[in-house]
Amino acid sequence: MIDALSKAFFGTLADSRTLKHAASRYGMRSPRSFARRFIAGHTVDEAIAVARTLESQGLTHTLDLLGESVADEAGAAAATDAYLDMMPAIVEADVDRNLSIKLTQLGLDLDRELCVTHLRAILARARDDGFFVRIDMEDSRYTQVTLDIFEQVWREGLTNVGVVLQSALRRSEADLTRVLALGARVRLVKGAYREPASVAFQSRREVDEAYVRLLGRLLPHGTFPAVATHDEAMLGAARAIAQEHGVAQDRFEFQMLFGVRRDLQASLRAEGYGMRIYVPFGREWFPYFMRRLGERPANVAFVVSSLWRER
Ligand SMILES: Cc1cc2nc3c(=O)[nH]c(=O)nc-3n(C[C@H](O)[C@H](O)[C@H](O)COP(=O)(O)OP(=O)(O)OC[C@H]3O[C@@H](n4cnc5c(N)ncnc54)[C@H](O)[C@@H]3O)c2cc1C
Repeated sequence: MIDALSKAFFGTLADSRTLKHAASRYGMRSPRSFARRFIAGHTVDEAIAVARTLESQGLTHTLDLLGESVADEAGAAAATDAYLDMMPAIVEADVDRNLSIKLTQLGLDLDRELCVTHLRAILARARDDGFFVRIDMEDSRYTQVTLDIFEQVWREGLTNVGVVLQSALRRSEADLTRVLALGARVRLVKGAYREPASVAFQSRREVDEAYVRLLGRLLPHGTFPAVATHDEAMLGAARAIAQEHGVAQDRFEFQMLFGVRRDLQASLRAEGYGMRIYVPFGREWFPYFMRRLGERPANVAFVVSSLWRER
C-alpha cells in the first residue's frame, strides 16, 4: 500500500514543471550533485566513461539515452538520430554494445508507423554493428502495442532485440508464454509505474509472488534471461530456481540500476554471476529520477542532504 502511495505521489510530482525546473538546475550541476547518483551524465561521452569504469570492475552495462513521450515528430527523429549517432561512438570506445530504448521516445504516442520506422532504423544499424537492443517497458497503456511492435520487427528478422515484462501486471504470465514461444530475450522486472487494480497487483506480496512464478518459467525455458531486481528475496529465488533446474551461471544474467545496491552488484559478480548495470544518461532525466525516488522514499533524505551540503 505504501509502495503504491509512494509511486503515486512521486508520479504526480514528476508532472510538476516548477519542480522539474528547480531539479534540472541543481541535480546535475557538479560531479557531486544529487541526480548523479542515478544518472551517468548529460552526454554519451560521460556515459561511456561510466561504462569503462563498470567494465574495469567486471560489470557489463546497457546504455539508455533518457527521454520518453516526445511531443512531436522532430523530437522522435532527434531521439532516433541520437541513438544512431551513439553507436559509432560506442564502437570507437570499444566498450560493450548494449542499448535500452523506450518506444514513446521514438514517437509511439504520435504515430505507430513512425515509431516502427525509427525502431527499424536503430535495430538495423545495431545489428550491423553487433549491438543488442532492449525495448524498455513503459506503463500499462503501452504493454500491448510494445509487445506487438517487438514481435513485428522480430518476425522481420531483426532479432537483436529483447523485451521487458513486469511482474506487477496480471497479464504478464500470458505475455511470457508469447515471448518464450518466439525464443526472444526477456528482462523480468517488478514494474516501475503506478497501475490500477484492474490490470496490476496492488500488494507487494502479490507482485513478489508473481515475480517468482515468472522466474520459475523464464529461467529454465528462456533465452539468456535478465533477472532485473535489487530485492534480495528475488535474487535468492532466482539462484534457487537456477540451481534446481541446472541453469548454469552463463545462461542468464542479473541486472541492476546504476547507483542502486552497488554492494550487491559487486558481491554477485564476485560469485561469478553476470551483472549488467542499466546506465541512463541525457538531459531528460527528471521522470526517471522521480521513479527512483518513488521506489525508495529514503532517497529523498539523500537528495535533501545533498542539496544542504551543496547550498
Ligand atoms: C536493469 C533494470 C531495468 C529496468 N527496466 C524497467 C522497465 O523497462 N520497465 C519498468 O517498468 N521497470 C523497469 N525497472 C524498474 C523495476 O520495475 C523496479 O521499479 C525497480 O527495479 C525496483 O524494484 P526491485 O525489484 O529492485 O524491488 P523493490 O522491492 O522495489 O526493492 C528492493 C530493494 O532494492 C533497493 N532499491 C530498489 N529501488 C531502489 C532505488 N530506487 N533506490 C535505492 N534503493 C532501491 C532497496 O534496498 C529495496 O529495499 C528496471 C529495473 C532494473 C534493475
